[in-house]
Amino acid sequence: MLFNTKMETLPREEIESLQLRRLRDVCNRVYANVPFYRKRFDEAGISPADIKSLTDIKLLPFTEKQDLRNNYPFGLLAVPRDQIARLHASSGTTGKAVVLGYTRRDLDNWAELVARSLVAAGVNSTDMVHIAYGYGLFTGGLGLHDGAERLGATVVPASGGATKRQAMLMRDFAATALCCTPSYALHLWEAGQEIGVDFRNLPLRVGVFGAEPWSEAMRHDMEDKMGISAMNIYGLSEIMGPGVAIECADSKCGMHLWEDMVLPEIIDPVSGEQLPIGEIGELVLTTLTKEGVPLLRYRTRDLTSLDYTPCRCGRTHVRISRLQGRSDDMLIIRGVNVFPQQIEGLIMETRGLSPNYQIIVDRERNLDTLEVRVEMDDNLFADEIRKLQTLERNLQKSIKEFLGVTAKVRLMEPRSIQRSEGKAQRIVDNRPKE
Ligand code: ADP
Ligand code: ZN
Repeated sequence: MLFNTKMETLPREEIESLQLRRLRDVCNRVYANVPFYRKRFDEAGISPADIKSLTDIKLLPFTEKQDLRNNYPFGLLAVPRDQIARLHASSGTTGKAVVLGYTRRDLDNWAELVARSLVAAGVNSTDMVHIAYGYGLFTGGLGLHDGAERLGATVVPASGGATKRQAMLMRDFAATALCCTPSYALHLWEAGQEIGVDFRNLPLRVGVFGAEPWSEAMRHDMEDKMGISAMNIYGLSEIMGPGVAIECADSKCGMHLWEDMVLPEIIDPVSGEQLPIGEIGELVLTTLTKEGVPLLRYRTRDLTSLDYTPCRCGRTHVRISRLQGRSDDMLIIRGVNVFPQQIEGLIMETRGLSPNYQIIVDRERNLDTLEVRVEMDDNLFADEIRKLQTLERNLQKSIKEFLGVTAKVRLMEPRSIQRSEGKAQRIVDNRPKE
């Protein structure tokens, strides 16, 4: 099933000619209407007319999150303020919030991409879609909402919070699809267990999970627990919000990124040079149709790779691999690079542990320390000290073996780590700022 068959299966040459036409158009628009970009073009000694092929994108300047912050709130608008239909702001996970303005047409295009994404994930117009992403300035709630409505599904705008009540509503309304962060999905599931609502006994079929990194091992765990197909959705407010890319139910292998509206590149985060196709690097995105705040070569800080090989589902749009995490999330522990997701993967593989964990980084006598706090499984919560010690030791050993760092592992009682209603706060970094 496709939502927009023609666009989703557009032959590669046609995608590229459409991209070039739109790239030239967006360059013209920002050059004419956004002083920030005009200055950048002038400084680089280029003009929009220099973009003659897609490879010429390399001539364009990058845009960084800091540029958005420096132009807070409306400095990057490419249309008069009265043409902006809605504002959103990034959740500010990594600092001061940035504000994005959407025109009517931007909202329309966004809804189209989310509708495409939901269909790719296996959702259809007969579904009961429970949306537990936060509604508000955060793009998750309203983004999924508009897309699910566009698709013609029945939408339950639950937002985050009142978790037990939500689990009850999912049962009462017979939810068939759940959209939220993976960590909140676990929280909902747990709340359901507490009040006797077992997701496996609901007609729930599909989970559309994103907005934070999660591992393949976590996917398996969730599918098992919840009796669903758990799909990965990617997006960011700067580009529009959720729905920039999605896994398709046919292959569940990489997320199709909607190339008619967004042009991806992968660069070496240090040199800024484009990397050969297939290599992992920083994802850089150019908006091709956005009117409110078009962005050229936006550095997402997200690490992934591109796959142009044909997909079983028939969609021709490139796939990005599961995100490794943001480059900002990468921990450097005594010189070793570690992503929280890698630790998550090892936790999930250790029997007896729950997917609720926290990583505490600190510094003692000039040395970085890493502590992994992880809750025991409900079933395991036994008083057998020996058993617990063995579990701690096993996880510690696999972290050392696979990631090359020494970690202190601390098992916690079930439900002792704070649950999040949106993006989970996995890392607590207590090291003094340099
Ligand atoms: P903030 O940057 O304040 O968190 P956003 O809500 O716009 O604001 O978050 C976008 C970011 O969330 C992405 O750049 C990416 O790091 C992360 N993200 C979104 N979807 C996924 C996903 N499926 N997997 C991993 N990370 C994701
Ligand atoms: Zn596919």
